[in-house]
Amino acid sequence: MRNVSDFFGSKVFDDRVMKANLSAKVYQSLRKTIDEGAKLDIGVANAVAAAMKDWAVDHGATHYTHWFQPLTGVTAEKHDSFISPSPDGGVIMEFSGKELIKGEPDASSFPSGGLRATFEARGYTAWDPTSYAFIKGNTLCVPTAFCSYGGEALDKKTPLLRSMEALNKQAIRILHLFGNDDVKCVRTSVGPEQEYFLITKEMYEQRRDLRFTGRTLFGAKPPKGQEMDDHYFGVIKPRVAAYMEELNEELWKLGIMAKTEHNEVAPAQHELAPIYTTTNIATDHNQLTMEIMQKIAVKHGLVCLLHEKPFAGVNGSGKHNNWSLTADGGVNLLSPGETPYENAQFLLFLCAVIKAVDDYQDLLRLSVATAGNDHRLGANEAPPAVISIFLGEELNAVLEAIETGTPYAGTEKTQMKLGVDVLPKFNRDTTDRNRTSPFAFTGNKFEFRMLGSSNSIACANIMLNSAVAESLKIYADRLEKAENFEDALHEMIRKTIKDHKHVIFNGNGYDDTWIKEAVEKRGLLNYRTTPDCMPHLLDEKNVRMLTAHKVFSEAELKSRCEIMLENYCKTVLIEANTMIDMAKTEIAPAVSAYILELANTAVAKKAVDSSITCGYETGLLKKLARLEEQIAVKTDELEEAVMKLKDVEDVEAESYMIRDAVLGKMGELRVACDEAETMTAKKYWPFPTYGDLLFGVK
Ligand code: ADP
Ligand code: MG
Repeated sequence: MRNVSDFFGSKVFDDRVMKANLSAKVYQSLRKTIDEGAKLDIGVANAVAAAMKDWAVDHGATHYTHWFQPLTGVTAEKHDSFISPSPDGGVIMEFSGKELIKGEPDASSFPSGGLRATFEARGYTAWDPTSYAFIKGNTLCVPTAFCSYGGEALDKKTPLLRSMEALNKQAIRILHLFGNDDVKCVRTSVGPEQEYFLITKEMYEQRRDLRFTGRTLFGAKPPKGQEMDDHYFGVIKPRVAAYMEELNEELWKLGIMAKTEHNEVAPAQHELAPIYTTTNIATDHNQLTMEIMQKIAVKHGLVCLLHEKPFAGVNGSGKHNNWSLTADGGVNLLSPGETPYENAQFLLFLCAVIKAVDDYQDLLRLSVATAGNDHRLGANEAPPAVISIFLGEELNAVLEAIETGTPYAGTEKTQMKLGVDVLPKFNRDTTDRNRTSPFAFTGNKFEFRMLGSSNSIACANIMLNSAVAESLKIYADRLEKAENFEDALHEMIRKTIKDHKHVIFNGNGYDDTWIKEAVEKRGLLNYRTTPDCMPHLLDEKNVRMLTAHKVFSEAELKSRCEIMLENYCKTVLIEANTMIDMAKTEIAPAVSAYILELANTAVAKKAVDSSITCGYETGLLKKLARLEEQIAVKTDELEEAVMKLKDVEDVEAESYMIRDAVLGKMGELRVACDEAETMTAKKYWPFPTYGDLLFGVK
């Protein structure tokens, strides 16, 4: 294998390339834009564009595109070639500063939730200079934000950048209060751990449910599932290892720091984790990672499934969003410090997160809500739909001591006064990793574990950043006016712990008794499904907070709520229609054919010797005939439930009908079909079974 450092980032127009290919003046001006958000003048943009184009052409690019993240959840690109006619009948390669900064794709076919009236089909894309341009195939991709002509965000990046700015602004106020006057910028960083399944392409092609919906809609439990716990961290099979090797290489070329890879809990399930980076870059990188994972899989005769629940009965796939705050100079604000003052500052940021998570449980829950993720969060799988925070015993004891004003056992039995006394050293909790908590403090970062494997991480981080910005704003407003900073600080931390400790839970989140306690005793929210939580995006307190920090306008929130519910409805409808289709044209005929074989066998046996009872054939035939009847009835009922949706205009009402009627009917149809599968001769079954799919990659 070649030396990674020789080709790492070779397809990225990164800082090294900029420095080498731009004049010192242009480079400095661009750096100012990247680091401090300074406006870019057109002369500089022209110079950057020219250098970018030359570099891209040298690397084989013929086209460029503004690369953006519309609300479909995937990325979008529209390729233009660099060519421009030259007077001699040939072509020259051109790319101007204007083309770099702004694009005008036709926005009419992207979801806008009513934001972009049809007469105003145009939207525009605007360069995000903080995320490096890169080459994919023969195309230079310029990361951009995507807005309507009225300036409303039509994508996930715009509000993400706004939320980072909101958090930056409030965090700086707090740092200045602690005397860190030279801090200019606070950024959030994220390392998303990505789970996925690999199955063979050959089997994938044979299943319409996988092809149309990304998940299996039928499938009886195989004799072997994940009960032996033999897959997690197990030896990686050669075919999978070859896939991972090529995947890593492609990601490294794009400057994506793919770091860890291992088998996951379920058979055929794996995980990839990159080294963390600034949130908007981590978001771009995660989108690219998902795209490349799928592309490389096909080259290896495999298919990479990113759905949250491709298989019933085995673990689903999620994405762990490791999140922290870093001040310029690299200080992690969620890392306990060395001095009393640093410790007090750490505790204040910690409290800001605790308060944010509690106050905006609903926003965090809905930021990860999709039809696919409902199968994890709403079902009996970790993490649950109830949001709670895991802090670990040590930190918990410290917070309790502060709240009650009692001595912390770890100190010399003195009461602790923040900002004055030294806090005990917290050891990073390595013993209890608490894998079931939806939101866990893991030493110097929080790990938000509710994200679905196919989700863009943008949504979760927008809400997390905004909610924490709000806590910090409340703190800063109070502390800036305080007569005695230390007293006010101590009191505020104490009050936060008292008011919000009900969201802290260090036990087992899988446990049913926890859900009962969380909801009944602690009053925590338990929104099991997307229709349950999504409308709360428009609750007054949420609109007030998100508009106050200029993360969303009210119109943008309304449109997003509508789009998310629309996505939910469309997703389940495609699933329902695929089920109807498969039941009618594949499963019922297969069962019927096998019944005929059983009947023919019985007749043939009787013909040989009329005293043969044919108990096996007739017994099985009767059972299958009953199931066949069930399948027909349940298919009709599902069709009826789907038909009823046609008259519903309101998307919220439609989502409730799907939740309450359609999904139940889908479940009933599946039960009948799965039972039939267990009784039908394998050669009649029309598509690969769970056993085939889960253990098919050798
Ligand atoms: P785990 O044991 O859960 O895999 P790791 O410490 O290996 O935990 O980290 C998992 C992810 O968290 C990686 O993507 C890593 O880069 C990221 N991470 C580590 N430190 C931070 C941090 N300060 N901020 C954000 N992400 C971080
Ligand atoms: Mg982790």
